[in-house]
This record gives sequence, C-alpha cells and structure tokens, in this order.
Amino acid sequence: MHIDLSHQVVVVTGAGRGIGRSIAQAFHDEGARVVALDVSPGLLSVLEADGIADLCVPCDVTDVDQVRSAVETVVERFGRLDVLINNAGINIEGPVEDFDAGLWDRVFAVNVRGVFVTSQAVIPVMKEQGSGRIINAASFAAIIPSVGAAAYGASKAAVVQLTRVLASELGPYGITVNAYAPGMIPGEMNTFASLDEQAAAAKLDQLSVRRWGEPEDVAKLCLFLASDLSSYITGALLDVSGG
Ligand code: NAD
Repeated sequence: MHIDLSHQVVVVTGAGRGIGRSIAQAFHDEGARVVALDVSPGLLSVLEADGIADLCVPCDVTDVDQVRSAVETVVERFGRLDVLINNAGINIEGPVEDFDAGLWDRVFAVNVRGVFVTSQAVIPVMKEQGSGRIINAASFAAIIPSVGAAAYGASKAAVVQLTRVLASELGPYGITVNAYAPGMIPGEMNTFASLDEQAAAAKLDQLSVRRWGEPEDVAKLCLFLASDLSSYITGALLDVSGG
C-alpha cells in the first residue's frame, strides 16, 4: 500500500508561507500538480522561483469573482481539480469586551467565508468528475477556549461544522471533506513572541510528544487525506497537535 498522488491536481489556498507552503511542497514532492493561491503576489513569486508550484494565482479567498476565475484557470490549464486545501486563514486576537466588530468580520471573512466561497467554486468540477477531496484548516482553538481567541476560535468552530455539512452534501458524489486542527506550530501566525522562556517551557510540557509542531506535520496529514488510503473518512476533524 502506498500513496500515489502523481495524477492529482491540488489547489492550496494561503500557500505563500507557513503551513500552506509546506503543504504545497509536500504535494510537489509526491509528483502532484500544485496550484498555489495566495492574497500576496510577493509570497507567490518566491514560491514560483523555488519551483514548488506549477501555477500561482494571486487570489483573495473572500472574493467570489477572484476565486471563480482562479478555479476556471485551473480547469482550463489541467482539465481537472482533485484536491482543494482551504488553508488560508488569519488570526486577530483580543478580549471580547474591547474587540472591534470590523476585525471580527474580517476574521470570519477569511476563515469561514473563504472556505465557503472556495468550496462552492470547486463543487461543480468535482461533481462532474465523480471524485474530489476538500481539506479545511480548522484549529485546536475550535475546541479549547483561550483568552483573546473569541473571533479566531469561533471562526474555526464554524469551519468544523461547515466541513461536516459539506461532507454530508457531497459524500454521494464521491467527494470527501475533512478538517485538520493544528495545535501550536511556530511561524508568522504563531510566533510565541509574547512568551518568556519559562512560559514557553511550561507550554511545551503540556504537549504529550514534548515538541512544537512543524508545518510538515500538517502537510503529511493532508497527503493522507488526499490519498486513497483515507477514502472512508469524511466529515472528520483530525487533530495534529502533538497530544
Ligand atoms: P500564516 O499566517 O503563516 O500563513 C497564512 C497564509 O494565508 C499567508 O500566506 C497569507 O498571505 C495567506 N492569506 C491570508 N489571507 C488570505 C486571503 N484572504 N486570501 C488568500 N490567502 C490569504 O499562517 P499558518 O500558521 O501557516 O496557518 C495556516 C492555517 O492553519 C491557517 O488557516 C491557520 O488558522 C491554521 N492554523 C495554524 C496554527 C499555527 O500554529 N500556525 C494553528 C492552528 C491552525
């Protein structure tokens, strides 16, 4: 039994850096054709220069027209679209009492509307193929509350339920839909800059495997979810948090 992804066309949103870049790299290494979407053209040009993506499309996942046009470009270029990884996300934190309602909307726009809009755009393509995989970025924050994470945590909880509904709507068409919940993966989003050495050590001590997560830990899960090995898994939230 082995994972063969060489026939797949994979779209990764928020592929410009961090976990998304690592996912794009992992699929590229497995021989898939990788389409990178990101709101930042600068990050995409680095990805292109590094030879990780077969196609880079600047795209804001909250914008219906941009997303539809990106999906059309993919189908025109490759004739199919097998896997959508809704990885793009933002995190803005602050206690509810002082949190700006516009920032709340922004977090929900990228984290929830983005998943909705992009999934909606690929559904007709995947239905026509009779197969497809949609993989959504949720978070540990969808399950465990923490101070300041109301907008982010609530948005990721919404992603979990959207995943389940999509799974039940699309299962009859050979399409599976799952979500992954990373724990703490150091990067631009999760810098731990506010933690002193002692606080960081205490947090690390809470992890069963006693190491921080790496973007590659999430990428490996995505490879599994995109492969035939996971064909009977749908509507699931898979924890990739080190316990
Ligand atoms: P990151 O901030 O390093 O990267 C996010 C990428 O998404 C960036 O390249 C950014 O340009 C892009 N992006 C932002 N808004 C966009 C938009 N509107 N349209 C298209 N692209 C957009 O984040 P990361 O740490 O790599 O996290 C990736 C995903 O994993 C996110 O959904 C995040 O919520 C989730 N997650 C991360 C962690 C963690 O510890 N890093 C933990 C749990 C969940």
